[in-house]
Amino acid sequence: MGKRLFINIKELYGILPLEVTRLQGEMMDRVESLPNAYLLVEEGKIAAFGKMENLSLDEMKGVEVVDLTGKRVMPAFCDSHTHIVYAKSREQEFMDKIAGLSYEEIAKRGGGILNSADVLRNTSEDELYRISCERLEEMMEKGTGAMEIKSGYGLNLESEMKMLRVIKRMKESYPILIKSTFLGAHAVGREYVGRQQEYVDMVCREMIPAVAAESLADYVDVFCDKGFFDVPQTAQILSAAAKYGIRPKIHANELDVSGGVQVGVDYGAVSVDHLERTTEVEMKYLKGSSTMPVMLPGASFFLGMPYGNAKEFIKSGLAVALASDYNPGSSPSGDMRFVWALGCIKMHLTPNQAFNAVTINGAYAMGVADKVGSITVGKEAKLIVTKEIPSLGFIPYCHHTPFIERVII
Ligand SMILES: [Zn+2]
Repeated sequence: MGKRLFINIKELYGILPLEVTRLQGEMMDRVESLPNAYLLVEEGKIAAFGKMENLSLDEMKGVEVVDLTGKRVMPAFCDSHTHIVYAKSREQEFMDKIAGLSYEEIAKRGGGILNSADVLRNTSEDELYRISCERLEEMMEKGTGAMEIKSGYGLNLESEMKMLRVIKRMKESYPILIKSTFLGAHAVGREYVGRQQEYVDMVCREMIPAVAAESLADYVDVFCDKGFFDVPQTAQILSAAAKYGIRPKIHANELDVSGGVQVGVDYGAVSVDHLERTTEVEMKYLKGSSTMPVMLPGASFFLGMPYGNAKEFIKSGLAVALASDYNPGSSPSGDMRFVWALGCIKMHLTPNQAFNAVTINGAYAMGVADKVGSITVGKEAKLIVTKEIPSLGFIPYCHHTPFIERVII
């Protein structure tokens, strides 16, 4: 890896100082940019950028030069919430839902988390790795440069470890930045149905120490919601993980006002995710905390659920990140450009606000804002070069017109 100089960039977007790791409130509507710019990449990092008129080509002898006349450059997307390691898609469930079947009937026909777990347990690690990589590669082509991936379709020790080992292999094999999250408490494993507390005890006693012993998880997650895990159980799991220094990211307030936001903030969660159902109480609790609220419009779109009230969050001075929630049941897409568009079309965010939500704030929500998410000297050069489009806002507006010329990861 040597030096590469991109010249004649029509406009360079998402410029931030290194010390800015998230954008909150009014700041979310600002996207710092530079027209007619150059950008120098050295050893995979952003080494310099500036106006073309200030570039001295004499100093760039021997550097590979790429002319981007007419094209725009922005940081690659940062997708802080995905479940892309799974064994089998669930289009049968999709059709059953269209036919109006109930959740119970769908589960009987092979839908839901527990059925995903059954299939995953019977899939080898190599096969699981192969099909998960196909999803990862598609996401990279669509402009994602950093992402978080969760376990949670194993629901027993052996299969949760299998999922986390697959994520580890992906980390080692791809240039994209990956963070892994242990989500043993995604649902109660089939063997423990009706014995939920025993399952939680087992997660704390067996799974977390095993995961920590192999350093397989950067974060711990719990589905803290109605019908899944309650606040005391969530606190029990978070405190077991805290003993190993593993910080939480939480599924909260998707199905009900669950108390998940508060328990997440209390345990220093890096993010609290979903938030389709939140009140002023949750917003107040988040104020002044280091926790990023993450909303997942792809799941709202796919399930016909309410969207998170991002506008109110931002109005109250909070930050918001948007992520894909790529998973087989409620959001079978990892297209962050679509997430950006949904942020504008359905959540009424400005293109600028939603841009910051899918770049720097997404990076913050997985603890990598010091490495990616903006155009900053020293950060990794994970970039999207656009086709010749009229503006940044054109990307979420004309949301199905191909806009990527190339992705640099
Ligand atoms: Zn999720």
